[in-house]
Amino acid sequence: MTNKYDYLIVGAGLSGSSMARLLTEAGKKVLVVEKRNEIGGNCATKDMNGITVHVYGPHIFHTSDVAAWEFINKYSETYPFINSPLANFHGKLYHMPFNMNTFHELWGVETPQQAKDKIWEETEKENIGEPKNLEEQAISMVGRTIYETLIKGYTEKQWGKDCKDLPASIIKRLPLRFEYNNNYFNDTYQCEVKGGFSKFIENLLEGIEVRLGVDYLANKKELDSLADQVIYTGRLDEYFDFSLGRLEWRSLRFDTEVKKMDDFQGNAVVNYTSREPAYTRITEHKHFDPYCQNHEETVVTYEYPDKFEEGKIPYYTLNDERNTALADSYREKAKAEPKVHFLGRLANYKYFDMDDTILEAMKLAKELLA
Ligand code: UDP
Repeated sequence: MTNKYDYLIVGAGLSGSSMARLLTEAGKKVLVVEKRNEIGGNCATKDMNGITVHVYGPHIFHTSDVAAWEFINKYSETYPFINSPLANFHGKLYHMPFNMNTFHELWGVETPQQAKDKIWEETEKENIGEPKNLEEQAISMVGRTIYETLIKGYTEKQWGKDCKDLPASIIKRLPLRFEYNNNYFNDTYQCEVKGGFSKFIENLLEGIEVRLGVDYLANKKELDSLADQVIYTGRLDEYFDFSLGRLEWRSLRFDTEVKKMDDFQGNAVVNYTSREPAYTRITEHKHFDPYCQNHEETVVTYEYPDKFEEGKIPYYTLNDERNTALADSYREKAKAEPKVHFLGRLANYKYFDMDDTILEAMKLAKELLA
């Protein structure tokens, strides 16, 4: 008997694992191959001295979609967590996202009307019109003071580019609120997973054959022959051997330390919004986790943006005009591959939140199973 699968799923991150579960539940025979020696992709977590560590940067699940919320709760034990990062600018702390606490800290204003007047006074002076880049978008949204204190340094470190050369879309995902509310997200539901997101991925993949340390593209012919259809969650341009050119990515470097103290910074995430230090944020993992019993030590991660090159991990897409057009051309090429379905952030060249990732998998599963 030959080893025959209905679907070969390339990648055991959130996209591939959600898809594997959905197809398996529908009675399909699925094989998952993963290049890394671990499951979970960039939402992977690991236990360090009893503390759940977000290995590839802080992840918070948030959604307003009931189906996505039910999905994560079906396959993991979630607990409420509200993300409220702080921003450190030259040693002074500000609340994020931009809300009445931030405006009070910056200007001493007390009421929403006073804050609006202050921002209006600043934006009016700039007279921007239709914003053409991130700098113009930010200044026309919140004024120059907030731009220079909380946006410019962080953003230029994050992307390695001047704010004038970045697309306005990046900044549009940050909430602006005229109430005293430090919740970073506007969604109805928000949580962390007990045991970490790797536990969730492990539950999704339960009972499904997963082969770790397998490079799909290096063994494509042989692996393709095992299944009727392929769900590919790797990089879009790499699938086509970069034949139309390379898509740009931004990478990250993480410096993780165990500190011999019970609390380092008093919050899960503190952003550093000036050009120095070179890191953009420090994550103190135990603050994500009310179940953490380690009172003697803490684990912190310094996050450094990094130039992407082969061998490094691609984290962020850079959806400027060139890259968006190139990704569209690759998508055209993808249409000539009816047996292969491109799923997730890497294969679509799009920033997906975790709920978007699950919803995309649900959409594709529905199409395939129709
Ligand atoms: N950003 C900023 N200051 C901050 C945090 C974010 O200017 O303190 C900007 C920055 O350009 C960043 C974008 O907002 O790339 C999106 O930030 P978000 O926190 O959504 O990014 P992620 O958590 O996905 O890295």
